[in-house]
Amino acid sequence: MQQLVFQQPGVVRWEEAPDRTLDEPGGADAALVRAVAVALCDLDTGALRGRFPMVGPYPFGHEGVAEVLEVGPNVTSVQPGDLVIVPFQISCGACRSCARRRTGNCQAHPPLSTYGLGQMGGVGWGGLLADHSFVPHADAMLVPLPSGIDPVAVASFSDNVPDGWRCVGPQLADDPEAEILIVAGDAGPNSIGLYAAGLAVAAGATRVVYLDRHPERLAIAEALGAEAVDGPLDAKVGKFGITVDASGEETGLRTAINATAWDGTCTSPSVYFSDPAVPMLQMYSRCCTLHTGRAHARPVIPELLDLVAGGFDPALVTSDVVEFADAETALADPSMKVVLRRD
Ligand SMILES: [Zn+2]
Ligand SMILES: [Zn+2]
Repeated sequence: MQQLVFQQPGVVRWEEAPDRTLDEPGGADAALVRAVAVALCDLDTGALRGRFPMVGPYPFGHEGVAEVLEVGPNVTSVQPGDLVIVPFQISCGACRSCARRRTGNCQAHPPLSTYGLGQMGGVGWGGLLADHSFVPHADAMLVPLPSGIDPVAVASFSDNVPDGWRCVGPQLADDPEAEILIVAGDAGPNSIGLYAAGLAVAAGATRVVYLDRHPERLAIAEALGAEAVDGPLDAKVGKFGITVDASGEETGLRTAINATAWDGTCTSPSVYFSDPAVPMLQMYSRCCTLHTGRAHARPVIPELLDLVAGGFDPALVTSDVVEFADAETALADPSMKVVLRRD
């Protein structure tokens, strides 16, 4: 089969790879799927732009919607021809972590087992930008796509949309009256920050403020229903019960934390390669919680699909839709949120 392989910043190539089959270990519980829409994760875009130190070669692509080609004899929830969302993290659905909805830390596989993240996530799982992909524990992992939803629009529900949700959703459930601030910047996970804004609006947040300098992202935030504020990373915009650092910079993180109200929660989906200085005394005094870490994608995907029915339009964040066949050229210099598609 053919699969797309990340070589180095700006360079991906279609290459021949061995076919996967359900005769492999775990095949009785597995499915073979063929991706029809794959979004670039913010981390993929960072790797292509040379901002994220990923080491190639590795099979690429880990957020997407796929068609089921074949299922093992124990699989009961999906059948060939179904369209499904494929969570980027490999999870068994049965271990203690999975039972606690922490599917990103499934204990049945090595830590960080994912599709399409090279050495960071276990190269053995391959990528979704391939003729087919092997999904173990198909009943636990795959989420059937409700009819009437465009696969291209929800290609990011495997990863970045749940990542945006974990920044605001559980916090809103705990404090529904809380106002929300999202601090965004060029170095940050841009689509995650925008999804957080749109999901918070769709979930009924009383006020969602999106701080950024980038005109296009500000326009998208506004289209998603947020209050877009054009300002620098160190802008003072008040106090908020829920804050999000989607800036990827120490200045933005400190702004988010310092804007977190008494008993508030700041979540950072940004990835830092050197440790930023965190204002611990401010946090101590105001009883702030700072949370970071990877999202646990699988358990929240069905409830996020309900928000699409309720008005959240993830397609507003998509910056470009290109054909699989054009991937090598289109990914040389990708825009903010590229979705690759094929029939
Ligand atoms: Zn990702
Ligand atoms: Zn598990």
